[in-house]
Amino acid sequence: MTRKSSAGRPSTSRRTPRTGDVARSWASSEAVRGRMQRQKTRDTLPEMAVRRLLHRAGLRYRVDVPPLPGLRRRADIVFGPARVAVFIDGCFWHGCPEHGARTTRSNSDYWAAKVARNRARDNSTDDELAAAGWRVIRAWEHEDARSVAVRIAEVVAARRPARCRRLGGTD
Ligand SMILES: [Zn+2]
Repeated sequence: MTRKSSAGRPSTSRRTPRTGDVARSWASSEAVRGRMQRQKTRDTLPEMAVRRLLHRAGLRYRVDVPPLPGLRRRADIVFGPARVAVFIDGCFWHGCPEHGARTTRSNSDYWAAKVARNRARDNSTDDELAAAGWRVIRAWEHEDARSVAVRIAEVVAARRPARCRRLGGTD
């Protein structure tokens, strides 16, 4: 009877803690954790969908770089010559009216304060870029990728430096 009850135990009870330990030590490595946190802010699905559409339309851009030297904030998509910086804002962290922190019930004060700080930072980023002659485009991650891409492409085309426009012309 006692033999029977302990028979299946060792394999399962040994396996669970071991995987847990591996996961814990892996995540506790500072370098790995830092990389994971950074990756969360780039290469999100909505952003990649927009990028794919822009690329297919022949537009070239840089990804996840500070548009201005000295600006501590990175833009998601940057068109250097046209001076257009695109931010695809996460609905929760940037306070989207439909999916933002206001819609969550628990810890609402805590999240609301955090989102308010993010929004303040977004505003100062926009001001800094505008002061340097940049055009900022912000889209919510919930927005339709195609309409966001069209919006971006139109702004970039209108702001393309004259030199590039002339090169593309036939007369
Ligand atoms: Zn949203």
